[in-house]
Amino acid sequence: MDNRKTRFSMGYFFLALLLLIGFQYFFAQSGREEIPYSELKTRIAAGQVDSVRVGEQVIEAVPTDTIRETTGPRLWTANRVEDETLIPLLEERGIPYAGMRVGWFAQAMVWLIPLGLILLFWVWMLRRMNPTQGVLTVGKSRARIVGQEGTGVTFEDVAGVDEAKQETVEIVEFLRTPEKFAKLGAKIPKGVLLVGPPGTGKTLLARAVAGEAGVTFFQMSGAEFVEMFVGVGAARVRDLFAQAKVQAPCIIFIDELDALGKARGSGGPMGGHDEREQTLNQLLVEMDGFDPHLGVIIMAATNRPEILDPALLRPGRFDRQILVDRPDVNGRHDILKIHAGGIQLASDVRLELIARRTPGFVGADLANLLNEAALLTARRDKPAVTMTEVDDAVDRIVAGLEKKNRLINDKERTIVAYHEAGHAIVAERVPTADPVHKISIIPRGVAALGYTQQLPTEDRYLLTKQELMDRIAVLLGGRVAEEIVFDEISTGAGNDLERVTDLARRMVMEYGMSRELGPINYAGSRKMQFLQNGEMSSETRSYSEETARSIDREVSGIISGTYERVREILQADRPVLEVLSQRLLDIEVVDEAELRQIMGLPPRRRSPPEQRIVETPPVTPELSAD
Ligand code: ADP
Ligand code: MG
Ligand code: ZN
Repeated sequence: MDNRKTRFSMGYFFLALLLLIGFQYFFAQSGREEIPYSELKTRIAAGQVDSVRVGEQVIEAVPTDTIRETTGPRLWTANRVEDETLIPLLEERGIPYAGMRVGWFAQAMVWLIPLGLILLFWVWMLRRMNPTQGVLTVGKSRARIVGQEGTGVTFEDVAGVDEAKQETVEIVEFLRTPEKFAKLGAKIPKGVLLVGPPGTGKTLLARAVAGEAGVTFFQMSGAEFVEMFVGVGAARVRDLFAQAKVQAPCIIFIDELDALGKARGSGGPMGGHDEREQTLNQLLVEMDGFDPHLGVIIMAATNRPEILDPALLRPGRFDRQILVDRPDVNGRHDILKIHAGGIQLASDVRLELIARRTPGFVGADLANLLNEAALLTARRDKPAVTMTEVDDAVDRIVAGLEKKNRLINDKERTIVAYHEAGHAIVAERVPTADPVHKISIIPRGVAALGYTQQLPTEDRYLLTKQELMDRIAVLLGGRVAEEIVFDEISTGAGNDLERVTDLARRMVMEYGMSRELGPINYAGSRKMQFLQNGEMSSETRSYSEETARSIDREVSGIISGTYERVREILQADRPVLEVLSQRLLDIEVVDEAELRQIMGLPPRRRSPPEQRIVETPPVTPELSAD
């Protein structure tokens, strides 16, 4: 898969060639003896020479047999001197002579050696500038991507990401029996994008899907495509898809898609992005141009979905996105169980305690943790890993993660717990809010994905005033809870407030829901908004300063009124707020059933599975990552 080896041997090949040429040159010189011209003439006169070749600059004389056998040299050479007596002398002696061109070899050497050195230097320079890229491997010598038949990884090896696993089950089914799906005309996703923070097991999950389905797995990393010479990456993509079609059913997995799929036009230095764009275009072309019923599924993983080129996410491409999020306590426990398999643990080690001590850890961190603990144990010459080593390892890793800003401290965690509990309680108490699916205080990096803060356009005209007011109330729930409990407020509600303001403004300006201003649209037509990127400039404002002031008054009226309403709700529910936050701090994730139980409400009838709420509601409390 990696071509670095080929590149290296190219370098060595050149070196060997140069050495060979050098040796030949050296040996060609040996057995010669250079003598002064006068000396040569003397030897000719003395009858020691058999034959002579006269070149433009050099004269070569072959000594007689006797001399060659006694003193050695094969050849005498002398620099030529303008001398008209030489030829008569040779004729008089009867010595054969001939003209001679300078040896082609010697002449070639004069050019080849410096040229070779320059070439080598150039290669070396380029490699130093860009260590991952070779220069001597333009396209042809690229190793092909080899599919792996059966990865040997199963769903058993992946833990703590049950929802993501659940979503891939259908893909496994399809890969096992593509004919069945084809006969039914069922629609199958072409591209599946795994999104989640680093180390949560995206690569592992993709391999597990291939392993479960027992199909060939083609893996490559987006970074590999980014080559120096234009055309190479695109050719590889073409090759990859051609191979996959032959080997279907199979999975093509592109790891770190963001390296390849960055929005076009955001190029790097040295025009390297041209290549990336070409490769990306080729990928889009290939994805568009094949029939999903062939039994080829394209999977990709990224931890930075926000920088991907939007073209990649269009229907028919990576239109299915699966969130692979950080595990909760139970998930961490399960992951620890998997990785504790090969490790000698002392009887005092309790994995569920470790799971509790490691909020924010992802699968890779947990695997690393157990490994660190084992290393520490070895260093301390103990027979088995005890809780002491585990604790030391946790401390070490926590320190590292804190530096990377990936963990929050206990105080922040408490605030987040009350904040989220506030959202959830309000959502259950107001009449029209979407039901709460789950509340989580697991730090989420990129998880905002798929949960957009905006209202979907289609819903916009279908919401009643009451529903909008309730949404605002839910959004304010977090901030109000913080204020009630801590008597101070944090920056955590910034995003909530942005959405609150946006909603209230739309109610007044777009939907005509304010009594004072009446049913008038002050926002301008939708088309104009689009043209101006959603922002209104003062030139297109079609109302007076005075109206602007009443709009502001109305908006803040809506918000402050709702704020009071929320405060009353939460104050009345203060005990519930306490219990729920404690529970959150304890187990990190509370689901709908438990929430309703804590609130003393009867269990809600389960919504049918096809209406699962995971990505539908644009504004629900569990979605506010702040
Ligand atoms: P990602 O691709 O999301 O960055 P990886 O799949 O490369 O993460 O995970 C790296 C390693 O961490 C895996 O090989 C595995 O050992 C461990 N790991 C990560 N997530 C999990 C998980 N959910 N269950 C079990 N092991 C995991
Ligand atoms: Mg990975
Ligand atoms: Zn919030």
